[in-house]
Amino acid sequence: MNTVSNPGPRDSASMAPYSVRGRWLAGIALAAAIVASAAGWIHPAIALPVIAILGTLIAVGYRVTAVSGTAARTQVLSADSANTAAQAVAIVQAIPEAALLVDRQNRLVAGNVPAAALFGRLRTNEALSLTTRKPQILEALAKAASGDTQNFEIEERVPVERSLDAHVAPIVFGHEKPNLFLLVFRDRTQERRIEKMRVDFVANASHELRTPLASLSGFIETLQGPAKDDPAAREKFLGIMGDQAKRMARLIDDLMSLSRIELSLHLQPQTVIDLASVADTACDLLAPLAKEQGVAIDIKKETGRLDVRGDRDELLRVAENLIENALKYGAIGKRVEVTLHEEGNDALLSVRDFGPGIAPEHLPRLTERFYRVDVERSRTQGGTGLGLALVKHILARHRGRLTIESVPGEGAVFTARIPRAQ
Ligand code: ADP
Repeated sequence: MNTVSNPGPRDSASMAPYSVRGRWLAGIALAAAIVASAAGWIHPAIALPVIAILGTLIAVGYRVTAVSGTAARTQVLSADSANTAAQAVAIVQAIPEAALLVDRQNRLVAGNVPAAALFGRLRTNEALSLTTRKPQILEALAKAASGDTQNFEIEERVPVERSLDAHVAPIVFGHEKPNLFLLVFRDRTQERRIEKMRVDFVANASHELRTPLASLSGFIETLQGPAKDDPAAREKFLGIMGDQAKRMARLIDDLMSLSRIELSLHLQPQTVIDLASVADTACDLLAPLAKEQGVAIDIKKETGRLDVRGDRDELLRVAENLIENALKYGAIGKRVEVTLHEEGNDALLSVRDFGPGIAPEHLPRLTERFYRVDVERSRTQGGTGLGLALVKHILARHRGRLTIESVPGEGAVFTARIPRAQ
């Protein structure tokens, strides 16, 4: 009984010869009963029930054998399936991307650690809709049931913006229909963000170049036409054209510096440089601008030399950009303080102005390329919107960083922090 209703592979193997033998004996007995009845050796009233019983026994014997064989095969198959499913679960857990395994009834069989990070708690052995309610996933599963792999994108806006590439693949173990479905999700958020930044960057750079170019072409036309014979206008327009040409040159120069620094970001410069002497040079170079703006530069050195490992030209660019910004945007404060000091293992160059300061919402974005608090003000001051982006990249290459503090109405402090040369 047990062997039939719940046969193991071994039971079913031992049962097959027994059933075959039984069937043979019943068959021989049936043939003997028919012959005996036909020959008149036994009375038909006895022969007929005997024939009927033996016939039934043979039929039942066949059925029992057939049933036990099917059950055994099913059992062997489901033992295989259980094994294979366990292997599939182990494979899912080894996949580096977020992956889920779902059965034909849309129940979650397994998920890996990245999937738990993506979907929160994974409710295995329960409907997938309790783990994720995204309609696209459920639709893709329904389509994949016919055996076709599904690829689609998921864009999320809340709670955070996220882009996922999703892939649903049916898995078939010996059946025609898929037993399981593998769902794999690739987080493309970072890639999309970088892609967007690149597109925005090209658009911004083109726009920044197009503006002075349009102005130049306009003045060329004016000088060739209406102002052809007007020496005063010509003098004035040529001055403006010169400024626009310089603006384009500065922009191209900053763009090229930025891409050069980005290329060598992983290479930390090794020459020992005195940051204090770099700050002195920057102040000397900016003395004419300070005079023009009516601002006094006060340089304070808390130590003698302040050695860092660096590239002198790049560090000079950092000091110049910070001091120049303080002179341009904080001119109203009439004073700029440049301080050189140490803090732990770091050398610090701080530039403080006493101008209008910067509202807190702008602070985190100031080092983005082309980000300006006031675009017009930056342009009239000859700014490219790339200065602080350059400072940030140069400091990153020197394994340092930039901090910005400001109290609106009281001024701003920009501090470059670089590890000291040991
Ligand atoms: P820009 O070429 O426009 O000066 P930067 O990247 O150097 O570009 O600076 C970005 C923006 O940060 C400036 O346009 C300005 O709005 C703001 N900024 C920089 N330094 C100061 C400062 N010391 N005080 C106020 N605003 C500043």
